[in-house]
Amino acid sequence: KRIITQDADDEDRSFEQTLRPQTFAQYIGQPAIKQSLQVYIKAAKQREESLDHVLLFGPPGLGKTTMATVIANEMGVHIKTTSGPAIEKSGDLAALLNELEPGDILFIDEIHRLPKAVEEMLYSAMEDFYIDIVVGQGPTAHPVHFALPPFTLIGATTRAGLLDAPFRNRFGIVEHMNYYQTDELEEIVQRSAQIFQTKIQTAGAHEIALRSRGTPRIANRLLKRVRDFAQVLGKDEIDVASVDQALTALGVDSEGLDRTDRKLLATMIDYYNGGPVGLNTLAANVGEETETIAEMCEPYLLQSGYLKRTARGRMATPAAYEHLGKPNPHDETK
Ligand code: ADP
Repeated sequence: KRIITQDADDEDRSFEQTLRPQTFAQYIGQPAIKQSLQVYIKAAKQREESLDHVLLFGPPGLGKTTMATVIANEMGVHIKTTSGPAIEKSGDLAALLNELEPGDILFIDEIHRLPKAVEEMLYSAMEDFYIDIVVGQGPTAHPVHFALPPFTLIGATTRAGLLDAPFRNRFGIVEHMNYYQTDELEEIVQRSAQIFQTKIQTAGAHEIALRSRGTPRIANRLLKRVRDFAQVLGKDEIDVASVDQALTALGVDSEGLDRTDRKLLATMIDYYNGGPVGLNTLAANVGEETETIAEMCEPYLLQSGYLKRTARGRMATPAAYEHLGKPNPHDETK
């Protein structure tokens, strides 16, 4: 299992619950999003209305679910959490909507994976707070009109292009989450260490932050692993040395790249002269699914400038050559 994967596993889910910020004050980073949401929430409360529907974009582990929870707490309403693949039929959605009280929040993670029929049922629910469902079968089948309480739908998805325009346009508030800055991740690590009742030196927290790929979920996971190492080494405080030792053992390097990332870059450089090379070919070469590479490796490698996307395929950048310590034949300055 990759330590740097952004997706949550069962172990993450159990400890993330205790680490999850509950209020805007506890939610570190994303200042612009927090600021505008605070305005919308205040206005909705003043008008005693439900909050407009919210769509959150961003890679896994950046705090979309957490943000939905914070919004519910700040609005003072209940939140019901589900995901696109979990809602198989229109009836599943109707059952969920039926349980909502006025102002409540329905959070749908991976909203781009909703079945089309369910998505279309959401249109009237979102716009005019009603749904039409067909009751009975064959000749006795007839539509029944159900009025819903005003509610807020919060959808989360990884990429902007995954939602059709008619669906996307029904969200009044659309926010793009960014990867976190090192100082923000450092604060997240410090906060989590406090909750774990683990002592960590500033430099140790900084080192974990540097290697977390801009992602809070990864920062928390690395902290947990490092804590185990420090404990076994008999240290009563996490310092840079224990961070380095633990993360090196886990194959996470100084830039947060793991073995798969490095293998991917090395393949491009060694076998394809730095590219361009197609994603499918690369995935086959490193023995991973194309989707895994596209979701887990590529976004961070692009963001951190090791990889470039061109019309003809992916290319390794000079930074990739340098990071792997390989001579760069394309470098004209030498
Ligand atoms: P997503 O829904 O985008 O996949 P989550 O909301 O589940 O991400 O966040 C993963 C974990 O990272 C959370 O459990 C939480 O502990 C931590 N986290 C996320 N965002 C923040 C933040 N802004 N401040 C502090 N911790 C955060």
